[in-house]
Amino acid sequence: MNPKIWLSSPHMSGNEQSYIKEAFDTNWIAPLGPNVTGFENDIKGYLGEETFVSALSSGTAALHLALILLDVKVGDEVICQSKTFSASANPIVYLGATPVFVDSERETWNICPIQLEIAIKDRIDKGNKPKAIIAVHLYGMPYNVDKVMEIALKYNIPVVEDSAEALGSQYNGKKCGTFGDLSILSFNGNKIITTSGGGALVTKSLKDKDKAVFLATQARDNAPHYLHSNIGYNYRMSNILAGIGRGQMTVLDNHVAKRRSNYQFYSDAFENNRNITFLNEPKGYFSNRWLSCILLSSKSIREDLRLALDKVNIESRPLWKPMHQQPIFKNSPSYINGVSDELFDKGLCLPSGSNLSDAELERVFKTINKFFN
Ligand SMILES: *Cc1c(COP(=O)(O)O)cnc(C)c1O
Repeated sequence: MNPKIWLSSPHMSGNEQSYIKEAFDTNWIAPLGPNVTGFENDIKGYLGEETFVSALSSGTAALHLALILLDVKVGDEVICQSKTFSASANPIVYLGATPVFVDSERETWNICPIQLEIAIKDRIDKGNKPKAIIAVHLYGMPYNVDKVMEIALKYNIPVVEDSAEALGSQYNGKKCGTFGDLSILSFNGNKIITTSGGGALVTKSLKDKDKAVFLATQARDNAPHYLHSNIGYNYRMSNILAGIGRGQMTVLDNHVAKRRSNYQFYSDAFENNRNITFLNEPKGYFSNRWLSCILLSSKSIREDLRLALDKVNIESRPLWKPMHQQPIFKNSPSYINGVSDELFDKGLCLPSGSNLSDAELERVFKTINKFFN
C-alpha cells in the first residue's frame, strides 16, 4: 500500500520546541505567560500595528467572543456566509440568535454582495435588522472586501471577518485578518500554521482586546476573592501552545509560498485538461491557497475521482457543504442563488500541505491523469 497523502497535515519548523522548552525551564506551564504575549506580538507585527490580538483556545471561541462583543443576544439575527465550515455559524446559535445564510459569488466563492444586500433589506422589512455579518475568506481566497464593507457601512452593520483559513492572504496589499470590525484566526491542526489547537481574536482597539481577554479568563472582577458580575469563559490559549505558535510564525511566509506553489503545480499540470477548472485570483487578490481546489464537470465525476484517489491512499474532500443544506440549519432563513450548491457538487480539495514532497504531488497528478485517460 502506498503511504497516505493527507489533505493538509501539521508542518513543524523545528523552532517550536525551543519555546516549549523555555516554558518548561521556567515552569510556565499554566495558561498565560511570556509565550502568549510573544505569540500575540508576533501576529500583531505580521498583521500591522493598528491591530490588537488575543490568543485563544480556538477560532470558534474567537467567533463566540466576537459576537458577545457585538452584543448579540437571544432573538437576534446574524448574517453568515452559507458556504463555510459549521464553526462560522455555530457561535450564533450558542447565543440563542438565528443565523441567516447568504450564498456565494462565482468570483471568489465567498459571500455574494448582491444576495447580501437583498438579505439585509428583507430582514429589515421583516422587522429584525441583522446584528452582524460574518464573512469568510474560504480556502484563503479573500471575499470582496470593498463591496462587503460598502454594504455594511450603508446599513451600519458590523462585520466579523472569519479569517481562519486566510492568515497570509491579502486584499489590495493589506493582510486578511485586518478587515473586520472584529476578525478571527484559527491555528487548528489543518490550518496554514497550527498550535495543535488554538485561535485568535483581532480587534481594532485595546478596550475590545481587554474585554475579550477578561471574558476569556472567567470574567474575574478586580478583587482579592473571586468576584463575578459577568458570565465568563475558559477560552485563553495556554503558554505551551503559544510556544508552538511562536515557532510556527517563523515559517508562516514559507508555508504560504509552498501552498501557492502546490496550487501552481496543479494548475500547470491540468492546464490542458478540459475536465478541470480552477479559481483564479481576481486583480488585487492574493490567496494563501490554504487548500488547492478544483471544479469538475459534474457531481458524479467529482465523486468518482474522490474514490479513485482514496483507493490509492490519497485524501481529498468535497468543498464545504453549504450551511443552508445542513440538517441542523434547515429552518434558518437563507438567500440562495445556486452558486454554493453547484460548488459543493462539483468541487474537490486536493492535497495541499506545506510539507508535501514533489514525489507526492507527482503521485496525485498521475492518479488524476490516469482517471481521465
Ligand atoms: C477552522 C475554521 C474555524 C474554526 O476554527 P477552530 O480553531 O477549529 O475552532 C472557523 N471558520 C472557518 C472558516 C474555519 O475553517
